[in-house]
Amino acid sequence: MVLTDYERLAALNKDHLWHPFTQMKDYINADPLIIERGEGIRLYDVQGRAYWDGFSSVWLNVHGHNVPELNQAITDQLGRVAHSTLLGMANIPAIELAAKLVGISPKGLNKVFYSDSGATAVEIAIKMAFQYWHNQGASGKTRFITMNQAYHGDTLGAVSVGAIPLYHEVFRPMLFPSHVIPYPYAYRHGGDELKVMEDTLTALRKLLETRSDEIAALIVEPIVQGAGGIVVMPPGCLREMSVLCRQHGVLLIADEVATGFGRTGSMFACDLEGVSPDLMVIGKGLTGGYLPVAATLATDEIYNAFYANYQEQKTFFHGHSYTGNPLGCAVALASLKLMEERNMVEGVRVKAAFVERKLTALKDRPHVGEIRQKGLMIGIELVRDKASREPYDWSERIGVRTSQRARALGMLTRPLGNVIVFIPPLASNEAELDAMTDILIESIISVTEGGS
Ligand code: PMP
Repeated sequence: MVLTDYERLAALNKDHLWHPFTQMKDYINADPLIIERGEGIRLYDVQGRAYWDGFSSVWLNVHGHNVPELNQAITDQLGRVAHSTLLGMANIPAIELAAKLVGISPKGLNKVFYSDSGATAVEIAIKMAFQYWHNQGASGKTRFITMNQAYHGDTLGAVSVGAIPLYHEVFRPMLFPSHVIPYPYAYRHGGDELKVMEDTLTALRKLLETRSDEIAALIVEPIVQGAGGIVVMPPGCLREMSVLCRQHGVLLIADEVATGFGRTGSMFACDLEGVSPDLMVIGKGLTGGYLPVAATLATDEIYNAFYANYQEQKTFFHGHSYTGNPLGCAVALASLKLMEERNMVEGVRVKAAFVERKLTALKDRPHVGEIRQKGLMIGIELVRDKASREPYDWSERIGVRTSQRARALGMLTRPLGNVIVFIPPLASNEAELDAMTDILIESIISVTEGGS
């Protein structure tokens, strides 16, 4: 029997590839989607079918796929040097990018430490915060505060400040303990935004007033909690949290991995409330989604606590083989240049308003509990009963079924439990957003009301 290329690849995929965040027993029994190429905001599988990239290939696609300017930046750099470690030497794109990042980041963040994924950049922020206090002689400040349902990546430090039981609980025995305060998730906690915000601030205030001598930092996904369900904070909450931290001598780490680079309608979500964190973590959209580069930005005050004679043992002993990779930094520079030339951050606000108008079609549907949106970061929470907000039981797999329906209609997306996620590439134009939201709406209605 002669196998088609698809059959051959499907068999090898089944035999050898272990996919992330995937129950392989489910996956293996379905026909795999195998992507061959991308063009604009569409991906094409090996059988030639086209799909809208409705979740930006895991929330990181800025300009679309196969972008000539980004391809060129990598090609140009390839002709010079592809690898560099930053261990004892620098390279041109890493230097240029660091200066560029400082220029666009909230004020005070003046130093850039590179890594290669959101999780590693979070690890670095945690270790920097910890050692910052240690180097200052405040070595009792060792604990972190995080928020309920927080997600900061999958390495052990990041999991230790994570608070999604489904992902994190099994690892608890090997983690360091963190303080968890409530996330202001109004829809699931009584519906009153002011009340949930007060609950969050009260819990934070109480911890800071009683234990700030043992707390190094608060880590937070600013304005939008991503993997926890695309949950938007009430206005002013982030600002208040930052003020409280400052008052009590606790650092603020803003994890902008998902929210950074225009996603929420400003360059960084912290900008929406004029917040300047002590440490800021970036990844995903930094390279337009092209290559694995991430970074942790720090203030001079933090940097200076490590700046000493080597005998004082204040060095930050941390680094990765790919730190400051020149190909990645070159494409990040090209991506930022395109963002500026195309005025993309402002464009996101206009596009977001268009999507918001389109999604009003879902407002009165019987199983649409809440539509949450900040910029082009959208989560639609489906419920069994709208009046009581009773959730669908997880065994109904409503999110998975809705995503499967969307895929059959030609759009890729990946749910978070009962929350349907729509995170289109920032470069999507209005006609493309129109087509994608039509599929989103149709798949939600047909699965929740039509029983498909
Ligand atoms: N922090 C946040 C807020 C994230 O959303 C993610 C990834 N979704 C991460 C950290 C981890 O990033 P990475 O997958 O690149 O390790």
